[in-house]
Amino acid sequence: MENAKPRAQSLLRGQSINVLLILSFVIVALLPVSILGINSYYAAWENAWREVREKHQTLAENLSSPIAQYVNNRRIAISLLREKMMALEDATNPAENATILAEGLDYLHGFRAIFLLDDHQRILGMATSYPIGERATVQLDLGSGDFFNTLFDSGRTSLSPVVINPLTGKTTLMVGTLLNGAGTMDTPLLLVGELKIGAIEALRQGIRFGEQGHAVIVDPLGQVIAHPNPDWMNERTKDLSHLPIVQKMMAGKTGVTEFYSPFRKAGMVAGYTSVPKVGWGIMVPQPKTEIEAQITRIRGSELVWALVGIALALAFSLSLARWITRPLNTLARAGQRLHDSNFESELPKISPKAPLEIRQLADSLGGTVDELIASRAELARFNDSLQERVDIATRELRKSNQKLEYLAQSDHLTQLANRRYFEQVLASLDDRRHGDSQGICILLLDVDKFKDINDHYGHVAGDEVLVQIAGILHQGLRNTDLAARYAGDEFVVLLRAGLETGRQRARNLRDAIDAHHFQFDGQTLHTTVSIGLAYCHSISACSDPNELLHQVDVAMYEAKRQGRNRVVEVEQGHPWE
Ligand code: GH3
Ligand code: MG
Repeated sequence: MENAKPRAQSLLRGQSINVLLILSFVIVALLPVSILGINSYYAAWENAWREVREKHQTLAENLSSPIAQYVNNRRIAISLLREKMMALEDATNPAENATILAEGLDYLHGFRAIFLLDDHQRILGMATSYPIGERATVQLDLGSGDFFNTLFDSGRTSLSPVVINPLTGKTTLMVGTLLNGAGTMDTPLLLVGELKIGAIEALRQGIRFGEQGHAVIVDPLGQVIAHPNPDWMNERTKDLSHLPIVQKMMAGKTGVTEFYSPFRKAGMVAGYTSVPKVGWGIMVPQPKTEIEAQITRIRGSELVWALVGIALALAFSLSLARWITRPLNTLARAGQRLHDSNFESELPKISPKAPLEIRQLADSLGGTVDELIASRAELARFNDSLQERVDIATRELRKSNQKLEYLAQSDHLTQLANRRYFEQVLASLDDRRHGDSQGICILLLDVDKFKDINDHYGHVAGDEVLVQIAGILHQGLRNTDLAARYAGDEFVVLLRAGLETGRQRARNLRDAIDAHHFQFDGQTLHTTVSIGLAYCHSISACSDPNELLHQVDVAMYEAKRQGRNRVVEVEQGHPWE
């Protein structure tokens, strides 16, 4: 029980609005329907029982009065006949009584036979509506002396219990009266009428209801007078006095009770009463199953209405759930589309018939999405321009770096490589990278008598001479070569070439400078260079670049010493001598 609530909550948690709405409506519909159904079911039972009780008791009571009247009329009739018999001279004489008895049978309705008996029940005279045949007897022995004793004792008309008529062998009822003191009669006589039991049976048959509802009439001893089972009222008396309901009737009570019927073999509900003065019991039983069937019919119709109610609740909740969830689902799908399309799609328009809260939600969502899209567009623009600026800055930085690198590696006057860069390249020479098929040559050039140019034409003219010498060096370079300004008026050239080629190119340079007409300020200048040449047949053989530079420097000074404007070479490992 303690877990029931959390379990119900966890069951409901995360369910769709559809399921929750339908569940609520069904529960809301079921509660009153079940309460009403249970209440009306019990009310129907109570009503049915009350009705049954009233109906059955009323029927029993209604049947009682015609029966009482019928019996009473027969008593009066037999009394009237008694008066006639009393007037006879000798009632015991069949010749005298026969006519009266026969007329009595004719005119007094309701008798099957009329007998005149002496005090030993011997038949002194009789009129019957049935043939006597072989059962003819001299004594009307009804098997019980009580009826006759009562007649003699009371002196009034009296009604017999159910007895067997010896003349017919069938059950019957007798009403009798005492004839005494009549004419010359010494002994008391009895006038006895046999009732037409069929008339009572006709009254009984008039009571019929339901499928098996019927009436039963019993005498004061509890024996059957009229009953739907013909065997119980024919040749043998049927004693029902053991039944509690019959005992109640015998006790003169009126009411309704339930009992088990051995005839129907079913539980019965019966109204019962006793006929005043006659002492008979009347009961009106009906099988309980018939009453239950009636209730079942009521329950069936209740069930149908309950189902109709639940179906209506379902239909209503379904349409309500659709009304609420359809725009919500549309919003949810649109949200997913927005996410998938990276906010390229739009939120759909929500129907104006959608619930107010959902329209408000859609409006605020739409506003948020619009703002978000605008922010994203702005961010994208910002990113683009940032990227653009970063690209520009990167390009400029790269240019600056290249420029810096160039500046760091070049000589500002001649635009050739500077000494530092030259020495880096020389130190990083590698056989594997650069091959070693030809060896390397280094030329060191120094302008001859450069001071004189400075002194004679000016420092600017000296600069121009340096620039033009750099141009000549640059022109003669191959892809694998490198020329640099080494210092002041000194230049250095790295050649990937064998000694012979290096030697030739050094001479060509010397000749080209010697032949060059340096133009400056409308004047033509002339100068020459002294060149030292160092050669290594392989890079690995020149493992010490400083040593090589030193050697070429020495060679260049040797050229100066020998008279300038010439090439002096030194081979690695074989210094110049
Ligand atoms: P030598 O033939 O012995 O080399 O005679 P020289 O006059 O050239 O003597 P040296 O090479 O020792 O002199 C170099 C001179 O070059 C010294 C210096 O004033 C001059 N010089 C150095 N750098 C520059 C420069 O950038 N521009 C100019 N115009 N002169 C420079
Ligand atoms: Mg010089």
